[in-house]
Amino acid sequence: MEEQIALADRMKLIKPSPTLAVNAKAKAMKAEGADILNFSVGEPDFDTPPHVCEAGKQAIDEGFTRYTAVPGIPELREAIVDRYAADKGWKYDADQVQVCCGGKHGLYNMAQALFGPGDEVLIPAPYWVSYPPIVLLAGATPVFVPLSEEENFDLTSDNLNKCVTDKTRGIILNSPSNPTGSIFSAKALETVAQMALEKGWVIITDDIYDTIVYDEGPLAHILDVEPKVKEQTILLNGVSKSFAMTGWRIGYSLGPKHVIAAMNKIQSQSTSNPSSIAQKAALAAVSGPQDFPGKMKESFLPRREYIIGELTSIEGITCVNPSGAFYVFPNFSAYYGKKFNGKVISGSVEMSGYLLEESFLATVPGAAFGADDFIRFSFATSMDAIKEGMKRVKEALSKLD
Ligand SMILES: *Cc1c(COP(=O)(O)O)cnc(C)c1O
Repeated sequence: MEEQIALADRMKLIKPSPTLAVNAKAKAMKAEGADILNFSVGEPDFDTPPHVCEAGKQAIDEGFTRYTAVPGIPELREAIVDRYAADKGWKYDADQVQVCCGGKHGLYNMAQALFGPGDEVLIPAPYWVSYPPIVLLAGATPVFVPLSEEENFDLTSDNLNKCVTDKTRGIILNSPSNPTGSIFSAKALETVAQMALEKGWVIITDDIYDTIVYDEGPLAHILDVEPKVKEQTILLNGVSKSFAMTGWRIGYSLGPKHVIAAMNKIQSQSTSNPSSIAQKAALAAVSGPQDFPGKMKESFLPRREYIIGELTSIEGITCVNPSGAFYVFPNFSAYYGKKFNGKVISGSVEMSGYLLEESFLATVPGAAFGADDFIRFSFATSMDAIKEGMKRVKEALSKLD
């Protein structure tokens, strides 16, 4: 039957988030009794720390349940400013901070405030699933900068130069990266910074995984590599990953005052302030003890080692050892073109579907991240699940011919 209500043209631009879609299918299969091992989830397998939950409960008990200031409560914005000053030495004022409904929302507000038709935004690929649709919804055009596995998914001036035009307005950096776990080298960031200075680009740096880094030494950051870019840089971050608070929906952005003011205008006419209760909880996270992210990282380390060891022991599979975050992004392309029961596994979507249907393993196809050779596994799941999961991957691949 013809649908009565026509949808806006922009609905042709985007699809629902594919990572959330896999997760939904896996949950449905699990509800029907299938022994699903879920490697598709993009969140820590930890509970929010108790002192953070306590702050949320206290906010309710104290009746802190009304509208707040649009950009977030002043105490939280001050605490974010203080945290950056103490941890990184970067100076911001409270009116250069916007608190919003999760890191994704910060990205959305930023794109609505800065980009429009005719603007090209560089997105290194593999990319996080939400970058292209958010740029498209702003009316702008995502331009993908291909990164290669051989170069540990680092940016080079060669791959950047191929994508730059006189319409380029900015670039979105994500380091450590979801889905690859790779981090950008100081040299790559220096290259981006110099181009940005020369051409007046805005640099968006999504630092949501900056507390989960496995390499020795500090994480290279574009603001340290070239402090001159600060006036044209927007930092995106939040408590979702660092404090296991994905459901609380608190993110924050820092940048030049006039950009944050524009983002506040968008927020004031769309969501208003983020949840008052969640803001109090985030305040406890940002201003309280900072040992939680480190503890999570310690627990991820052996899982990362195990999963990398297992995956790279499989013939034909290569996998970059992630420097941060909690994902591995193995290359399965050696198995594409093979068959199961006469059906060809032609790419990552079919491979991921095969692993789900035959082995009850939920993963995310690389196509969702603009990289069809790969499959994303999250190792923010139990060691037992990882061990059993790797066994199933090997079995599944051995059944292909
Ligand atoms: C999880 C994630 C975010 C933020 O997610 P929210 O749940 O909206 O806070 C941002 N960027 C990347 C790359 C992520 O993986």
